[in-house]
Amino acid sequence: MDIYTEIILDYYKNPRNEGPLPDATTCAKEDNPLCGDKIRINLKIEKDKKTGKEKISKATFCGKGCAISQASASMLTEKLIGKTPKEIEKITDEDIKKMLNIPISPAREKCAILCLHAAKKALTERGSAKKSAPCPGCKKETASGRPKRI
Ligand SMILES: [Zn+2]
Repeated sequence: MDIYTEIILDYYKNPRNEGPLPDATTCAKEDNPLCGDKIRINLKIEKDKKTGKEKISKATFCGKGCAISQASASMLTEKLIGKTPKEIEKITDEDIKKMLNIPISPAREKCAILCLHAAKKALTERGSAKKSAPCPGCKKETASGRPKRI
């Protein structure tokens, strides 16, 4: 049994930046078959008017799954906003574990880092033909509600 902090539970119950992002410039989805978690990260990448550098102006997530996967995705979207794609490439699995600040068993590791992998995938796939429309099926994934399993 994992121990969840109040912060994790708060992010799970009141997720920040959850939902579709209609003006997303890229998005990507990752599944964790071990736990049944699904996460889609939606990003809007814009050029900063001052520096001319690309940065993330908006980030949201859609998904369902366990508390760790959902809280981690919600926390990550907050972290991503304002960052450049290069800065996001540098975020490691370890950084995510530090962000969550709870002991994570190897079996649950994939739950925690799923969102980061989706975010990085969104960055590598942007501009490519593979890029999917923002959030297809997103409503379907959230309409059934969250599984009660925490
Ligand atoms: Zn999970």
